[in-house]
Amino acid sequence: MDKDTILRLVAEVPDHDGFPLVDDLHARFDALAAAHPDRVTVTRIGTSRLGEPLNAYRVGAGSHTAVIVGGVHPNEPIGSWTALHLATTMAEDPDTAAALDTTWHIVPTIDPDGMRLNEAWFHDPHDRVFYSRHFYRPAPDSQVEWTFPNSYKSVYFDQVLPETLAFMRLIDDTEPDLLVSLHNGEMGGVYYYLSEDLPDVIDVLHAVPAALGLPLDTGEPESPFLRELAPAVFAMDGIEEAYDYLEELGVDPGEHIHGASSASWALRHGALCMVAELPYWSHPDADDQTPTDESYADLLRRCADELGASGTELQEILDTASPMLTIETPFLEGSRAFIPMLVSTPETDHARADREPADRMATVAERFGCEDLVRCFRLRYGGMLLRALEAETTAGTASAPLRRLRDRLAERYALWQADAVSDAAPIPVRKLVGVQYGAILACASHVAEPTRASRPRLVTTNQPGGS
Ligand SMILES: [Zn+2]
Repeated sequence: MDKDTILRLVAEVPDHDGFPLVDDLHARFDALAAAHPDRVTVTRIGTSRLGEPLNAYRVGAGSHTAVIVGGVHPNEPIGSWTALHLATTMAEDPDTAAALDTTWHIVPTIDPDGMRLNEAWFHDPHDRVFYSRHFYRPAPDSQVEWTFPNSYKSVYFDQVLPETLAFMRLIDDTEPDLLVSLHNGEMGGVYYYLSEDLPDVIDVLHAVPAALGLPLDTGEPESPFLRELAPAVFAMDGIEEAYDYLEELGVDPGEHIHGASSASWALRHGALCMVAELPYWSHPDADDQTPTDESYADLLRRCADELGASGTELQEILDTASPMLTIETPFLEGSRAFIPMLVSTPETDHARADREPADRMATVAERFGCEDLVRCFRLRYGGMLLRALEAETTAGTASAPLRRLRDRLAERYALWQADAVSDAAPIPVRKLVGVQYGAILACASHVAEPTRASRPRLVTTNQPGGS
């Protein structure tokens, strides 16, 4: 399938208001399967921690195999529409399906329990303040994406979640040529992770956002050790690179690295792995290479200190609240994992800053990226701690001191909300889905090429990242 065809298909992606609720998403997939019993087969692959069946939908019967999984981070629902649009196209458009000659195994959402805790903002993803106030991201050890088995130097991880086990079995049963776990970012521009340096694919990965008028994210990368294959396209290097980088920096990697990603598992089968990271809001600064008058080292230190100060404030509230809390919510579990990370991350950033040459000026894109990460983390994790405390005030189990603590946090949070209002532009959902869909088509086209070499086996790497 050539680039023009992919761009045409991307332009046909329909628009939506917001994102589908979990039940709605499942109902749409079931309706598709019922309408095309000859093309779509449903297989139960596991059970969520709260008892919900996890289904994979097999679409088509091509000679290549692709596994596409949504909800690997349940706060990232762009993939819900992408998965549905992909399944619908492959079931109902015989020409497109034939061109890619692929059997698709599509999981609409692998973590329905976590996704339901985000549903309150799905009808309006364009208001960042509302979004953050109703945001939920599982603690790292409760994320499907980062709980695949891992063993490297001092790190040994085998606390595989039931959802992750289902995902592992799907990969092992299908031995995919292509794995796409459906992620998205939040603010700025479009970027990607790709497990192989493929110029033909990268060309399309750049062309699709350009055709839709979306900027690439060329500022501060999500992790400092990332290897850039092309602008806004990063290698899906292994957790080994992250570990060695932190070790060399003098930071204990064991505190930051736990499980591996789905890509690390699929690479054992020689799969091409791709992740597309899309923001809900774009900002012109995200792709502005103009130098600022602040050195990059000073920028890192300034943002690290701001993040550390907010983390310390949240930690103090959490510590004071802890003896009074009686309800073990996912919000509390997440707060107990993320808030200490906000407190400890500045140490890493200061160590990085000390190595940067003093005369290297930060670009506008880097400044935007660093400053916005502070805004993002305050809103996300302040909001989750608020939800943890409000579980007690709503249930009637909160003492008066706990209620006052909740009010104090709400007051602080309102200031962070006011600080987060910016001139960022909401992106229409059809464009976000279009980028993810186009990226999948580009990778599937590459995999379907007769010239693609026989697949390497048992390579163990994975991708870093927090989006
Ligand atoms: Zn993610």
